[in-house]
Amino acid sequence: MISSSNPQFWRKQAQLPFLQRIAAAPAEVIDYVKQVNARESGSAIEPALNPALTPSINQTDHVSSLNSALLTDIRSAIAELPEQVKAKLEPKLLGVFLATGVGSSAITDVISDTDGNMLGAIVLLDSDAFLSRTANSWMAWKESSPFNTSAEYTLLANIAEPEQDQRKQALQYLLLHEFGHVLSMNTTYLPNWWIGSQKFKDTEEYSFLSICWQIAMSGEIIPLIRHNFEHRSGITYYGQAQLNASQMLAIYQALSGTGFSTLYAATTVYEDFAESFATYVHVVLMGKPWCIQICYREQTIFSFSDYWASPRSQQKAKIFEQLFCS
Ligand SMILES: [Zn+2]
Repeated sequence: MISSSNPQFWRKQAQLPFLQRIAAAPAEVIDYVKQVNARESGSAIEPALNPALTPSINQTDHVSSLNSALLTDIRSAIAELPEQVKAKLEPKLLGVFLATGVGSSAITDVISDTDGNMLGAIVLLDSDAFLSRTANSWMAWKESSPFNTSAEYTLLANIAEPEQDQRKQALQYLLLHEFGHVLSMNTTYLPNWWIGSQKFKDTEEYSFLSICWQIAMSGEIIPLIRHNFEHRSGITYYGQAQLNASQMLAIYQALSGTGFSTLYAATTVYEDFAESFATYVHVVLMGKPWCIQICYREQTIFSFSDYWASPRSQQKAKIFEQLFCS
């Protein structure tokens, strides 16, 4: 949470037309991210895309032509979202900002005034992370990141039709994930990520959390037994892979028996909500493809797709149907 000494700035930001809230990061946000990088916790951070990325964040006030093209892509990716998604975001999302050297691909965090009153949320994107990847190659790379590389076992992803397989679609998909974090704030879906576990209510008080997770006596949020599977705790994204590529098949087979929409969703309840939201909007509301294929010697041996058409998504689908009806 960013406690802002300049709430007027953020109140003005909230008055801007939605697409004008996408810009280079203001100094206050830059300072904050420097602090986050120094302590490495407290936000919904997608870990560093490039571990070698130096955590010396720079303000992109002075927008280069490269970044101005990126801002155009981000604005257009957001403009093309369904109207009901933008309507939900408008009162909560204060801005989407671009910076370099963020130390992670994206950060979502909450802005409050110094009395602790919440003003809204911001999403900060690292412009270095999105210079040249198309949607399907970005997705395949991201979804391969929990596994060590192998010549025999590989993973393919399809989230964009060939004619739409561009950077803008990758940005849109990542933004939808971050917007899932934004829309989960101050709801009864799950506890806010910035409060301590001593403030958590009982499992049953959270409508989304209780579908696949439970709050243990220790305060830790753990999966219900029927949604847990072998090697789940070894799933780490973007960083140092802990799983072998030869385990991909067994892991994806196990995943397809759970209530999780993606492998990333199985890591924490927060990522579960963000991934569920992103894939629901992408697949159900926007009618776009979503498929992960596990290949052995370039032959597809397993496909993971159609989550939202399967009975195992039913309870989560109800949550999102209600969200977009209200
Ligand atoms: Zn996330």
